[in-house]
Amino acid sequence: MAVSAPTDRFASERSTMVQRQLRSRGIRDERVLAAMERVPRHEFVPAAREAEAYSDHPVNIGEGQTISQPYMVASMLEAARIQPADVVLEIGTGSGYQTALLAELAAEVFSMERFASLADAAQRRLAHLNYANVVIVVSDGSQGLPGAAPFDAIVVAAAAPAVPMALVDQLRDNGRLVVPVGGLDEQVLHQVWKHGDESVDRALYACRFVPLIGRYGFPSDPTWN
Ligand code: SAH
Repeated sequence: MAVSAPTDRFASERSTMVQRQLRSRGIRDERVLAAMERVPRHEFVPAAREAEAYSDHPVNIGEGQTISQPYMVASMLEAARIQPADVVLEIGTGSGYQTALLAELAAEVFSMERFASLADAAQRRLAHLNYANVVIVVSDGSQGLPGAAPFDAIVVAAAAPAVPMALVDQLRDNGRLVVPVGGLDEQVLHQVWKHGDESVDRALYACRFVPLIGRYGFPSDPTWN
């Protein structure tokens, strides 16, 4: 658990974000709402974009990637049904913002990122905010992290062409995988719930993410980076 100052200069913007963008649009999980009230989102965007940190859209973070819109983050975390004792895998560390939220909600977080530059910046921010229960790994997350499996939940913050079966295999019994699935332009958020040898795949709603690039994602293409 981290200690983040509840009274920083963006505290009231953050409360407004939670109220107007999350609560009023149907986010109900009080633990998710409280975590989003605590984590200083402005510390996860480039300094020049600080003023946009609490607005209702994704923000560019470099390497052609974005920190997801607050509602999207809240909605994914809610769908993953994170419990305090959970061990969680996140694919797509990006800025580290969602990683910080997972660190607030779960016992242990492994987060994977393909760009070392983003992983390093995220690592610095998370250390600065005293999150001690996070391990960041620079590698292709579409293959998961078999050495640390099984996971209670896996959250994928990038779009996959199909549900990556390698990730389903790394879920514990009763584990949840949340992943956007579809084409490069639009996807549907899926929640896959593992029950013994079976899993139940629910399509939730349309969304738009940057591509998951890797073995069980989209093939690498310089124009998408
Ligand atoms: N949740 C992040 C946003 C992530 S954007 C945040 O809060 O800031 C998606 C991230 O997934 C990008 O940083 C991208 O580089 C990363 N990514 C894409 N394919 C990946 C892969 N196969 N393995 C690990 N990371 C990947």
